[in-house]
Amino acid sequence: MKNWLPKLRDSLMHLVYPASCIHCGEQLGPGASVLCDPCGSLLEMLDPEERCPRCFNLQGADGHCRYCAKNPSIFYRTGAVFSYMGPPASIIKKMKYGCQPHLAKGAGAFLIAQFEKMDWSMPDAIVPVPVSFFHWLERGFNQSTLLANELAKVLQVPVWDALKRSGPSLSQAGLTLEQRKLLGKKQFKLKGNYPIEDKNILLIDDVMTSGSTLNRCAEAIYQKCPQTLSALTFCKTEK
Ligand SMILES: [Zn+2]
Ligand SMILES: [Zn+2]
Repeated sequence: MKNWLPKLRDSLMHLVYPASCIHCGEQLGPGASVLCDPCGSLLEMLDPEERCPRCFNLQGADGHCRYCAKNPSIFYRTGAVFSYMGPPASIIKKMKYGCQPHLAKGAGAFLIAQFEKMDWSMPDAIVPVPVSFFHWLERGFNQSTLLANELAKVLQVPVWDALKRSGPSLSQAGLTLEQRKLLGKKQFKLKGNYPIEDKNILLIDDVMTSGSTLNRCAEAIYQKCPQTLSALTFCKTEK
């Protein structure tokens, strides 16, 4: 698998024939990557050796970040491929808001590379973080499911669509659309009756920001007592 690590940039090639670089807008030739050469050279993966294994923030001198040294984490470990800036952020934004689901293929290749680099053990199943119903209607896809599918194909493990964002209840019927969207963003429930108990579960999302979404998902998954729960995202905002 490591043989194709140098070819990661090429994984973003030949998917489509974009007129311009998705990050800087530079005109691209036929058969080019979705990024121009200068933007492609900015794709620098985060180094797991420099990161806290729990939260993936930069390590302190004792090997853990100051926060994790004092606070227990619900996650066995957390990882991300890129900082949420520059070309990787453009990949996510174009995928989600520019409705370009094909970008998940290249992004998924980087997820696989980082998974290998971190030397994580094989999960029993991969669970994508669900998008809200409103966003699903808007986009027609869940970007985290697309990323999970790419990883699952290579690892040969199942993707379990085991979480849902809980919709507004009758008691919330008087709320505005915006208020419902906000509520829907933060509430997760289990669905599908997957055999999570005693399994090693890998949660996948596109971006880790405050970590609150991942934590809410983890709380829902922990109702079924997994053996371990890890989380891997394509991008991560730096603290
Ligand atoms: Zn560019
Ligand atoms: Zn930490």
